[in-house]
Amino acid sequence: MALIVQKFGGTSVGSVERIEQVAAKVKKFREKGDDIVVVVSAMSGETNRLIDLAKQISEQPVARELDVMVSTGEQVTIALLAMSLIKIGVPAVSYTGSQVRILTDSAHTKARILQIDSQQIQKELKAGRVVVVAGFQGVDESGNITTLGRGGSDTTGVALAAALKADECQIYTDVDGVYTTDPRVVAKAQRLDKITFEEMLEMASLGSKVLQIRAVEFAGKYSVPLRVLHSFQEGPGTLITLDEEESMEQPIISGIAFNRDEAKLTIRGVPDTPGVAFKILGPISAANVEVDMIVQNVAHDNTTDFTFTVHRNDYHSALQVLEGIARDMGAREVVGDTEIAKVSIVGVGMRSHAGVASRMFEALAKENINIQMISTSEIKVSVVIEEKYLELAVRALHTAFELDAPAGKGE
Ligand code: ADP
Ligand code: ASP
Ligand code: MG
Repeated sequence: MALIVQKFGGTSVGSVERIEQVAAKVKKFREKGDDIVVVVSAMSGETNRLIDLAKQISEQPVARELDVMVSTGEQVTIALLAMSLIKIGVPAVSYTGSQVRILTDSAHTKARILQIDSQQIQKELKAGRVVVVAGFQGVDESGNITTLGRGGSDTTGVALAAALKADECQIYTDVDGVYTTDPRVVAKAQRLDKITFEEMLEMASLGSKVLQIRAVEFAGKYSVPLRVLHSFQEGPGTLITLDEEESMEQPIISGIAFNRDEAKLTIRGVPDTPGVAFKILGPISAANVEVDMIVQNVAHDNTTDFTFTVHRNDYHSALQVLEGIARDMGAREVVGDTEIAKVSIVGVGMRSHAGVASRMFEALAKENINIQMISTSEIKVSVVIEEKYLELAVRALHTAFELDAPAGKGE
């Protein structure tokens, strides 16, 4: 008998019919004798609807109150799923994050899980019930409701699996596994049987929203066996694995990630003196803006240009800060661009192969796509390009690195 944590995402619980389908699926696992903890997201579109409501009151709603509100989405689905299970004869009980006591820090809208009390869940399992837990939400030391950031139900699932020492955490979604790139953008994307934690972590942090990055971090840290599967189609899905053993035979690149969430800022004609980077990025970070890529040009005529990217939501506050810095430093000008995208190739195979970056640049050059910024790490190369070329770039790279599914395969 195994203990399995199953997480179902928004589209998988998007209607009452789907919730009933999920209940039927859970029932099948129960009948095999497994203990099941189910984590659910809000019905698809619900979290966005709630955020939009809040924004009708204020462009920047108070984060504590926003959490009180957006956490209701998941509270609805846990109750509906528990009801559906009970209706088909499966004893079940629902729990909110605070009822379990998923303890988080107090960083509203992006809280981190600190500790999970698994006692109550264990008791319920022992009593033969399926436990349905609300994803995405927790509670801080003072009893305030918190949420874990968009896509956070994945993290609830993995964290619960770690706390309960579950045999597997299964993430059920609307695709049948992790693909070489988003199958909704590249029709020839292929499902991967396996991907290493390290690669999945890069893919998630570089924009592949199939798993929330913190979920992958948790799974790696606590060695939680993690699998991504389709909610309503049978299949092996994708196993996220520690083992890199086959990487020598695998393609150099495992996947292509992309993200449209960034914006670029440049400060031109900054006097080239020691401490310039600190003078620019110090106030940016003091304004709580996270910086991603950074490029400083080689100085000429004793001045330099400095470019960096931030999350698009932070663009306006970063621009304001930067304009202040430009005045203080006597810089020539500040320019910004929100119509950019970041495309990244990821693969542990890069460690043992040279020339990967130039192959990437060649593929982009062939399509006449201008590269604005570049950053590399041991297992990834990222470039910033004009947003309108994003899909073309991803498709070109997918072909160049021989990731395309053979004709007739893929979605
Ligand atoms: P859920 O609501 O179940 O959490 P998400 O929308 O968060 O589902 O994640 C699933 C989606 O992730 C897919 O529909 C797909 O469009 C997208 N996606 C992005 N990159 C990938 C990838 N490499 N492999 C599979 N899906 C991906
Ligand atoms: N409902 C939340 C969201 O839409 C959490 C999740 O679905 O994982 O981001
Ligand atoms: Mg998700």
